[in-house]
Amino acid sequence: MNNTIIAADIGGCYRMYLAITTELVQTAADIHGTSNVATAALGRTITAAGLMGLMLQDERSTLTLQIKGDGPASEILASADASGRVRGYIADPDIELPLKGPGKLDVGGAVGKGTLTVIKDLKLKEPYIGRIDLVSGEIAEDLTQYFMRSEQQPTAVALGVRIGTDGRVENAGGLILQLLPDATDVCVDRLERCIATLDNLTDHIGLVNTPTELLEHLLVSMPPIHRPRVLEERNIEWYCGCSAERMEQALMSIGKHDLKQLIEEDGSAEIICHFCLEEYMFEREKLEELLAEVERG
Ligand SMILES: [Zn+2]
Repeated sequence: MNNTIIAADIGGCYRMYLAITTELVQTAADIHGTSNVATAALGRTITAAGLMGLMLQDERSTLTLQIKGDGPASEILASADASGRVRGYIADPDIELPLKGPGKLDVGGAVGKGTLTVIKDLKLKEPYIGRIDLVSGEIAEDLTQYFMRSEQQPTAVALGVRIGTDGRVENAGGLILQLLPDATDVCVDRLERCIATLDNLTDHIGLVNTPTELLEHLLVSMPPIHRPRVLEERNIEWYCGCSAERMEQALMSIGKHDLKQLIEEDGSAEIICHFCLEEYMFEREKLEELLAEVERG
């Protein structure tokens, strides 16, 4: 089953990217062994990155979403591509913070004050980089600001991760709703009323089984011409593209001098992928091969 849809209304008022990412967030939590609040922070970030990846025009483009704050999470990073593949990590997966309210994980407290950066590699000469100061660290609000300030695009973002009493992800998802240039006041007004209830996106996700059902449920009160229709079904899934070859490239990129020093002082190198925690071991012989390759230029 596809977990994501792209929808729009006939009236040309808005476009919406909507995903139910319960399994994706559980996968990330399993890989990183995250605490509840860390699962929520990482889950919101990878869900948003996955949706933003689908917004890229070119198939070869990639997107990185980085949240850096002075809170205990320190850094959360997710990267995604245009085909819905996403991966991410949180610098401290073990954070424990008191709840902000009944069932409310304190993601803003985990993140703290800092910056949100979006890097889009559109396969042009230079990547696009947009950065804003965090508004609340709750991630959805921060992204709403990002779209407004960096992309001058009126956008509503909602993200949610609900953790059950057993510590597993009960449900998770997100949506990005963008107003199109021809949006009418009536449509905007009605959308705002629908969106006002999105503070608790996970409550709504709990009532449905598919993203299409969620879409209909959320926008049920829109007038006929602004009712959503599904344009595309897509899938956002966990995928880490790391490999021994890529790690070799990374090792070679540290340069001849550092590589030599590594061989002399350590004799071997162990590299752990930040995203999937896969370990790559390089023995002396392999390192010498790589050094020879660097020396050959
Ligand atoms: Zn990896």
